[in-house]
Amino acid sequence: MKNLISLFLLLMLAAGCGQATDKGSKSSDRERPQWAIVVHGGAGMMERSDFTPEIRQAYAEKLSEALNAGGSILEQGGASLDAVEAAVRVLEDSPLFNAGKGAVFSAAGINEMDASVMDGKTGKAGAVAGVTVIRNPISAARRVMEASPHVMLAGTGAEAFATEQGLTIVDKSYFYTEVRWQSLLKARQRAEEQATDTTEKHGTVGCVALDKNGNLAAATSTGGMTNKKYGRIGDSPIIGAGTYADNATCAVSCTGHGEYFITNAVAYDVAARLKYLGQPLQEATGEIINTKLKQQGAEGGLIAIDSAGNIAMPFNTSGMFRGYLLPDSLPKIAIFKDE
Ligand code: ASP
Repeated sequence: MKNLISLFLLLMLAAGCGQATDKGSKSSDRERPQWAIVVHGGAGMMERSDFTPEIRQAYAEKLSEALNAGGSILEQGGASLDAVEAAVRVLEDSPLFNAGKGAVFSAAGINEMDASVMDGKTGKAGAVAGVTVIRNPISAARRVMEASPHVMLAGTGAEAFATEQGLTIVDKSYFYTEVRWQSLLKARQRAEEQATDTTEKHGTVGCVALDKNGNLAAATSTGGMTNKKYGRIGDSPIIGAGTYADNATCAVSCTGHGEYFITNAVAYDVAARLKYLGQPLQEATGEIINTKLKQQGAEGGLIAIDSAGNIAMPFNTSGMFRGYLLPDSLPKIAIFKDE
């Protein structure tokens, strides 16, 4: 059975089933879907030659698992907030993505993670930054939103709060993966050679969803950038930069060079364009990623869904792990531009 599913996923990738993901679907062509869920596993400069069929299959399976985890909640009438948390937890528990288990190493040789979540129905949000022992930072972000009077907690304070909340705390060694360690060693080497930008620019996971009640939610989780220094925090835990959700407009989760996503308030800019300019989702997200950010030399992408169920997944890098799931269908997964 597992083989059959794997074969199907491979065929889907080969047949370019992900094509619709970049174009999304127009609400004018159809009714709003009962529910919808979209995930990303990071945008970056990726070489096709690095992706053997086995590697592609591993990514496709994990992204599909995340979509199915969130999709089954939505199918049963559950909340988009529960769906995005469930989907991101699946990706955090995988060593394939730069979040949770697969988080990259900082310059100090530790894994410092950031995450945020926003509920489009209530406008409430929660985030954690620079946490090192919380197994699922996305769940800690949700607790900050629901069980504290704050929006963002950082470092040891966030960890003490997560412990009080009964979340799973792990030894720092849980986050060790050989691949990420080697990336740090390479980044350190490059830093010595170039003494300029020493970071690696891809990773992060995210999810946006629309539930049967028309509620939107967004979630983002990351290990940040390899070899980051001085307690650097990126866009992922910042509401309005890496994550945003508002039932009146859309839900957005970003990935890319965080500093630019912060200064351009990217996630909020998508919502603002919909609200104040009346731009369709495809146009708003395309302009931000492919014109505005590109002109600044900022690499990255985002996933977004609007209140009508339109989906956009633009990126200006060579690839972005991404996928979506709609009712009565199978996950659509893609990595490169032409998929
Ligand atoms: N946006 C993340 C950060 O800057 C990294 C990424 O998405 O690759 O921390």
